[in-house]
Amino acid sequence: MPYSLARHPFPPAVRHLVLAARTVLATAGDDSFVRVRLVEARPGELAGFIAPGGGDHVRVVVSPEGGEVALGPTGEPFGESRTETVVEHSVDEGWLDLDVLVHGVAGGGLIGPWAARAPLGSPAVVMGPKGSVVLSGAPGEVVLAGDDSALPAVRRYLRMLGPSITGELLLETRFDLALLGIEPPAGLRVSILEPDSAPSAALAAALQALPAPTDPLERFVFACGEQSLVSPARAVLGAWGIDVERAVVKGYWKR
Ligand SMILES: Cc1cc2nc3c(=O)[nH]c(=O)nc-3n(C[C@H](O)[C@H](O)[C@H](O)COP(=O)(O)OP(=O)(O)OC[C@H]3O[C@@H](n4cnc5c(N)ncnc54)[C@H](O)[C@@H]3O)c2cc1C
Repeated sequence: MPYSLARHPFPPAVRHLVLAARTVLATAGDDSFVRVRLVEARPGELAGFIAPGGGDHVRVVVSPEGGEVALGPTGEPFGESRTETVVEHSVDEGWLDLDVLVHGVAGGGLIGPWAARAPLGSPAVVMGPKGSVVLSGAPGEVVLAGDDSALPAVRRYLRMLGPSITGELLLETRFDLALLGIEPPAGLRVSILEPDSAPSAALAAALQALPAPTDPLERFVFACGEQSLVSPARAVLGAWGIDVERAVVKGYWKR
């Protein structure tokens, strides 16, 4: 039976959390992946929180050095936000986990340095998810393509798709998947592409090189990475006869 992909909007929500723990999952050269656990600043902050889709994400506002987040009269945060995938959460226990890529050499950035260095107890204001993209049914095959920023979503999709899924996993990363605890099922052909100065170009080329599906309704495609991936990934969907609404294609960051 073909799969379906449904988009559900959620009402806006602003939740006040604090940094409770960090774990360095893996390093690759000067970069690292840090899992941060955010817990409720007050009981009930995560009441009603749901993130059922593989790529469901929240906007996070933090203060660069881990200081207070400035708030307006209704509790809305001021300041820059970053969008991060919800890796796991428990409303009952009052926590949510994000896996944040920390750039060593590039420096700068907001959430990366915060994830790496903010003191435990630092506040984080989390907004969303403002909606969810939920995959139902079992696709005959998948093509999952992403760079480091999409690894947390890929992790979730793999968990949801289960061990018997077949298809292609295209990853532009220097991280060791085993160190990250990402275990692709045996039926996925894994291609690890070397990141270079044109981010996501290797992903786009690898997508273009794949054969068209026998049945476009049976191939689920997730392709997320640097913004320049979006246009070629959509062109590939068109060439394969896959409606863009039945796929997840998104720019996760801009160079
Ligand atoms: C739907 C969605 C889900 C996302 N989920 C995650 C997630 O789970 N984990 C995660 O780490 N990121 C995720 N991102 C990307 C995230 O929003 C930020 O871009 C990222 O965390 C970097 O933020 P920063 O503040 O550390 O650096 P920024 O201030 O955004 O950037 C600092 C510098 O690093 C460069 N840079 C940013 N990202 C990358 C990259 N991936 N590779 C190479 N250079 C980069 C920028 O061009 C800039 O020069 C997601 C984005 C979207 C839209």
